[in-house]
Amino acid sequence: MTPFTFEGEEDERSLKHAAKGAGVNLLNRLELQGFKSFAGKTVFEFPAKVVGVVGPNGSGKSNIIDAIRWVLGEREAKQLRGEGLESLIFAGTPKKAAVGFARVDMILDNKNKVFPVDAEEVVISRRVDRSGTSEFSLNESEIKLKDLLPLLARIRLGARGIMIVGQGQSDIFVMSSPKERREMIEEFLGLREFRIKKSQAERRLDSSLINIDKIKAMLEELAPQVRVFQKQKTRLEKRSEIEVELTTLENSYYSFKYSGFSEELKKIAAPLAELQSERNSLEEKVKEEEKTLNTLYKNDDEYARVKEIRVKANAAIEAESLKQRELSRVETKIEIQKEAPQYIHKPAEFEEFIVSLRTGIEKILELDNLAEIKSRLKAIVGNVQSFFSKKEAKEDVDLEKERERLAQEVSVLKTEVEKLRREEDEVSKKTRDTNIEFREKVGRLNEKKNERYALDRQIQALILQRETIEIKKEELEREWASLGKAVEDLRNLKPDANLDEGTLRQLASRMMRLRGELTAIGEIDQSVFGEFEESEKRFEFLSAQLADLEKASADLKILIKDLDARIKNDFKTSFKAISDAFNEYFRLMFGGGKARLILEEPSFAKASEGETDIADVAFGAGTAKGETIEGKEEELGVAIDLNLPRKKITGVSMLSGGEKTLVSLAALFALISISPPPFLVLDEIDAPLDEENARRFSELIKQFADKTQFIIVTHNRSTMEATEVLYGVTMGEDGVSKVLSLKLE
Ligand code: ATP
Repeated sequence: MTPFTFEGEEDERSLKHAAKGAGVNLLNRLELQGFKSFAGKTVFEFPAKVVGVVGPNGSGKSNIIDAIRWVLGEREAKQLRGEGLESLIFAGTPKKAAVGFARVDMILDNKNKVFPVDAEEVVISRRVDRSGTSEFSLNESEIKLKDLLPLLARIRLGARGIMIVGQGQSDIFVMSSPKERREMIEEFLGLREFRIKKSQAERRLDSSLINIDKIKAMLEELAPQVRVFQKQKTRLEKRSEIEVELTTLENSYYSFKYSGFSEELKKIAAPLAELQSERNSLEEKVKEEEKTLNTLYKNDDEYARVKEIRVKANAAIEAESLKQRELSRVETKIEIQKEAPQYIHKPAEFEEFIVSLRTGIEKILELDNLAEIKSRLKAIVGNVQSFFSKKEAKEDVDLEKERERLAQEVSVLKTEVEKLRREEDEVSKKTRDTNIEFREKVGRLNEKKNERYALDRQIQALILQRETIEIKKEELEREWASLGKAVEDLRNLKPDANLDEGTLRQLASRMMRLRGELTAIGEIDQSVFGEFEESEKRFEFLSAQLADLEKASADLKILIKDLDARIKNDFKTSFKAISDAFNEYFRLMFGGGKARLILEEPSFAKASEGETDIADVAFGAGTAKGETIEGKEEELGVAIDLNLPRKKITGVSMLSGGEKTLVSLAALFALISISPPPFLVLDEIDAPLDEENARRFSELIKQFADKTQFIIVTHNRSTMEATEVLYGVTMGEDGVSKVLSLKLE
């Protein structure tokens, strides 16, 4: 069986239809099996508007009323005249064995679709077995009582109240409390459905509010953790943002510079190669000249001397050239430092320094002593100054000293070369005089040598230039590597064509600033993020739940308010008419007098029913004390105010048993006249009535039969006469109730 759940919305049309009776019998059939004295399956058809049940005492008539109450959801054993669920199951007699379960099926007409199911008939069933398991079903689908009750309330069926009046309850309206009377009236007006919905909504609201408190407490516990996490996360996000920007800037900056150096090197390569090949061919010529000169050379001593000087000169030139290169390297370094002061410190050193600064400042923040704070701050200022000047000064001084030393050595070597050249010239001059040819040759040789010297100078200048660029390039690679990047990447980077020297400077200062910001943010320990994230997820989940619950609570509050308003308004609208009708039926039954219903606060109820004089109290919205209690109507009870003809009776407590029944019947018929229910079940309600009143009762039953279906248990002849279908219930020797249908003509 699939559990039945009600999801349909209220259909005003069919509700009204059901409410007015509209000539259609709602109750089609009642089937009892194993219920109390009905051991076997017993079927009651209700094809008429007034169905009577008659039979001797103890035959089982009231058990039928119990069955109706039970199938409609009654839970109290007392109301079912039993003790626990088991007492509802046929207990067995000496002649008839007990049964294992009791079942009652109530078959209702659904042609007007008063139930939100697509069937012409609706079967409400309840079953209990000896294990105590009790279950409801609607058209054979299991349904929970809490789902069934609102459905029944929609068509104004309930197990209690004045619609099912049990044996000995004929004075029920009079004997009930003001609050219970109000509930009876509400049931007739179809407001019980809204009461059920309201109390369900209130229960849901209560549990929502409890859950809201619980979730709020959990959220409060999580909040500090989540705040810390969010702060860390913001820092991490900021850090990543900066890192991304920094990488882009570094790529642009370094690739631009790197490609610039590569371009410059390319430009030098061709002229240098040209000069070198020119020098090589010149060198050949010099060697040739020297060869011919050697053959002409007569004076061996002089030749040896020239040769010796030349060797020395060459060595000096070579040494000078080497020193010159060294000098250039140092000069390039000095130049680089001047050009790029931002690289005085490597990024790592810079970060280390900033971290030490931060730690120092944090420690100062913990101090209270102003003098101490001042002295520590001074120390920090000193540290900052020395940090930025120290390295610059130290490295500059070292490099400057080196440069001076090398320049000195180069100059010494230059002087040495000059001196040797002069010496060579002098020795050569002596031989020139003696040999013109020799002189000419020496002249040509010297010319060539001078040319070679000039070429050497040019070549050296270019080599120097090349080395300078190479050093710069290497320095750039070192810097790049110090950022933790692969040099290979730098080589492969494509330079940004839109950059120029101006924008490059801006890039450099932006990079500096970003590095400073990164250091200020500091390192973030990402290993704690997993735990934090868990808390944050939970926080978000709980927040969403809280929002849902708050929304649900707000909706429930609105629903409760709407239901309240509806109950209040509907009640107010009909109350005066019911009270007037009550007066009318009261007068009919008592042959005069006056009666009315009054709304009053529970504490006044008793007093008014005993004391208030009918003439003093205004009808309608007034209370027994003549006050208007706005917005509290639902708490107001219903008091009865009456004035019997020819008697000085002012309170219901003074009435006789029969009179109490008459007042209750007046209320019952007043309610039927204003809002006829689909059916009424009355068990010997006419018992206390005298003949005349019993006749009047049966007349009223006939009068209302076109609006409401009546199921009446009676011993009274005039009531029997009012019925269209009559069932006789008997109990044989076997202790089992039997039913025979007595059609009346
Ligand atoms: P009266 O006219 O006197 O009110 P009644 O016809 O309404 O009588 P009921 O009260 O319906 O009679 O029936 C009472 C009978 O039902 C009793 O004989 C009682 O023993 C029998 N009865 C009640 N419960 C069970 C049960 N669980 N098993 C067997 N019989 C039961």
